[in-house]
Amino acid sequence: MALRGSCQCGGVRFEVPDHFEPRAFCHCATCKKLSGGVGTANGRLRSEEVTILEGEELLRTYQPEEGTAKTFCSVCGSNLFGGGWPESESSSVRLAAFGLDYDRKPEAHTFVRSVAAWEILPEDGLPRYEIRAT
Ligand SMILES: [Zn+2]
Ligand SMILES: [Zn+2]
Repeated sequence: MALRGSCQCGGVRFEVPDHFEPRAFCHCATCKKLSGGVGTANGRLRSEEVTILEGEELLRTYQPEEGTAKTFCSVCGSNLFGGGWPESESSSVRLAAFGLDYDRKPEAHTFVRSVAAWEILPEDGLPRYEIRAT
């Protein structure tokens, strides 16, 4: 089963297999800035499993001083891939790209060392990791 993802403006469309391992929320400081909110929700897979169907020329990659490269749509700013895509062996795909009907929930909260003073971490019973899930 393939999953189809897109950015907010629809200029970038991509496809991935639906077998993320794991799926997790990232509360790191970079994900907060990039998302404008509490962070990102991600699925991990091998970078080569991401197929860009449309809008490859719209993608821009940003390398923060700390952490891995993040890729977004240069038209609408949607944050689509992290974890060093496409060069790294494995990458993060932002679950928001799949829209509201995607129903496979993240399994952990990662980088909770970077929970902001204004942020509310939900009491959802999921394991919490200071940095990454181990
Ligand atoms: Zn876009
Ligand atoms: Zn993060």
